[in-house]
Amino acid sequence: MNEREEQLLNGHSQRVELEYETALRPRTLGEFVGQLKVVENLSVFIAAARGRNEPLDHILFSGMPGLGKTTLANLVSHEMGVGMHATSGPALERAGDLVSLLTNLGRGDVLFIDEIHRMPKAVEEYLYSAMEDWHIDIMLDSGPAARSVRVSLQHFTLIGATTREGLLSAPFRARFGVLERLDPYPVEDLQTIVTRSAKLLGVPIEPAATALVAQRSRGTPRVANRILKRLRDVAQVKGDGRVDVPVAERGLAMLGIDRIGLTELDRRILRCLAGSSIAVGLKTVAVAVGEEEDTIEDTYEPHLIREGLIQKTPRGRVITELGKAALK
Ligand code: ADP
Repeated sequence: MNEREEQLLNGHSQRVELEYETALRPRTLGEFVGQLKVVENLSVFIAAARGRNEPLDHILFSGMPGLGKTTLANLVSHEMGVGMHATSGPALERAGDLVSLLTNLGRGDVLFIDEIHRMPKAVEEYLYSAMEDWHIDIMLDSGPAARSVRVSLQHFTLIGATTREGLLSAPFRARFGVLERLDPYPVEDLQTIVTRSAKLLGVPIEPAATALVAQRSRGTPRVANRILKRLRDVAQVKGDGRVDVPVAERGLAMLGIDRIGLTELDRRILRCLAGSSIAVGLKTVAVAVGEEEDTIEDTYEPHLIREGLIQKTPRGRVITELGKAALK
């Protein structure tokens, strides 16, 4: 890879990535591609709540990163015509962090908590009374003078997003009226998403190149959009601005993405497992490939498992024959 190509791949700051992501987000539920069952369910619940003039029940979205959980939370608040306040599990360190958020919510407003499984237990328990009885108890003073004051809240809708539904406690899960799981998208849906994004970004792209991007996006719209953006750069610098099959092939090779959507990090994981005759623990894999355990478990492993390249056993991860073949 020459210097210019390297710049192309790394030169985009996170801020720019975020702006792109916002620009490409569907604005209405009708624009949201695929996940038909989820969209249909949400449409019914929204219509019913609106018909009764009531706030929507609490919703939990689960699924891999980049499948559209944040997008759906935005769309729900948009369709309900209510305000949206967003935060994330790790940002809520203490119960006190929740107080100002909760007391600022208007009737029906959405409080969106991303990565809700990473919220500390004490904060989670503090949410229970807010979700169920619309009040919170705030402790004033400490020691013998300590007393608690009950503050009532507006009826709001909590929307949680999680990549690990299994990590949520049973009492917490039980407080969500709607639980929706997002699955990886079929290639046809990803093609529709890439076509839509290309139009929004003003990138001319051939249908065969669209198909190539869709096939290599590991079922994930965020990955598809990211690849498209890089291909736009390649087309601009190396071609005539048009993304055709040669440009797509060249860009995918620059990104180190292979035929089945594997990246260099996937291959490192496979090589780490191939080098061991026994099952390998997540910690060891993380150290060997230089990535965080959570990221490996949330982002990389699901695709490797779905493609049948690795297996998770109680003792750790093992590579399959298919996985070994993918390394050749
Ligand atoms: P998550 O919250 O699950 O990590 P996001 O909602 O942030 O995922 O989606 C990532 C990006 O993928 C967004 O910018 C959005 O444009 C795109 N996207 C996700 N799902 C869809 C969809 N069904 N249709 C169109 N674009 C989508």
